[in-house]
Amino acid sequence: MTAQLIDGKAVAARVRAEIKEEVARLKAERGITPGLAVVRVGEDPASKIYVTGKKKAAEEVGFNSWEHHPDASITQDELLALVHRLNEDPAVHGILVQLPLPKHLDADAIISAVKPEKDADGFHPMNAGNLLLGRPATRACTPWGVMRLLEEVGCNPAGKRAVVVGRSNIVGKPQALMLLQKDATVTVCHRKSDLPAEVAQADILVVAVGVPELVKGAWIKPGAVVIDVGMNRKADGKLVGDVEFAAAAERASFITPVPGGVGPMTIAMLMKNTLEAAQRAGK
Ligand code: NAP
Repeated sequence: MTAQLIDGKAVAARVRAEIKEEVARLKAERGITPGLAVVRVGEDPASKIYVTGKKKAAEEVGFNSWEHHPDASITQDELLALVHRLNEDPAVHGILVQLPLPKHLDADAIISAVKPEKDADGFHPMNAGNLLLGRPATRACTPWGVMRLLEEVGCNPAGKRAVVVGRSNIVGKPQALMLLQKDATVTVCHRKSDLPAEVAQADILVVAVGVPELVKGAWIKPGAVVIDVGMNRKADGKLVGDVEFAAAAERASFITPVPGGVGPMTIAMLMKNTLEAAQRAGK
């Protein structure tokens, strides 16, 4: 392997340490303790793991945190009422509704009901729109975490060719906009793209598709910085990314491992969004 590993766990720990210091300052200077409310509907096993991790991180950095855990049978109106209560609660600075929601609930409507200034995930249309317009916005946690990883390895996107594989609203699209904001020349790929040809152009490659090892190592431009957002559980229980890791690591200059790359950054940036919401509160 020739690539250097990008240690997302270590970077995330540094981000959390920075946040912890800011929380102490906010408490001392303004008497404000950031509060994160997490809503987990029903019994999705993956959601339970994610929410437990988020609550633990919130407590470690000194936030107040609350988990609301309604039954899967909750109605749209009841869930909206819960969101409205949290919107009006001054102790709550960040609200996160864990996705996916049960099928009978309209996730878009629920996310849109969260006050944009309390939108800890950065998924609210107002925040997504402000990102598009280049205005200050609460940013989606995963792509924002990727930007921090690039910074940490000294990779300045300006003037570079960045290729984002995947165009979801929560990763691919905001990722492309954040890279564009940093003056990269950005290509966004999806199912109809000629992936080998596009990936071969990338100085910075971010892959978020959810298909194990879809991107082959042989496609990678020598010296590229490769960020693998994918998290896929194989039949043998092993967690793999969307990039063929061993072969890609022979060509890349830097690469994120899975697990231990992007994953820990998502939670760290969620804490940062909540901290910033608390810092804005009452100003
Ligand atoms: P998603 O909403 O399912 O979107 C997947 C995107 O990948 C779509 O744009 C789709 O293209 C594209 N795609 C799928 N198969 C493809 C193929 N064969 N060739 C080219 N493009 C293809 O997924 P997501 O929510 O963005 O998540 C992507 C992955 O990242 C998943 O593994 C997820 O678990 C992981 N993830 C990790 C974190 C973290 O914290 N580490 C956070 C979020 C997501 P079309 O638009 O054409 O359908």
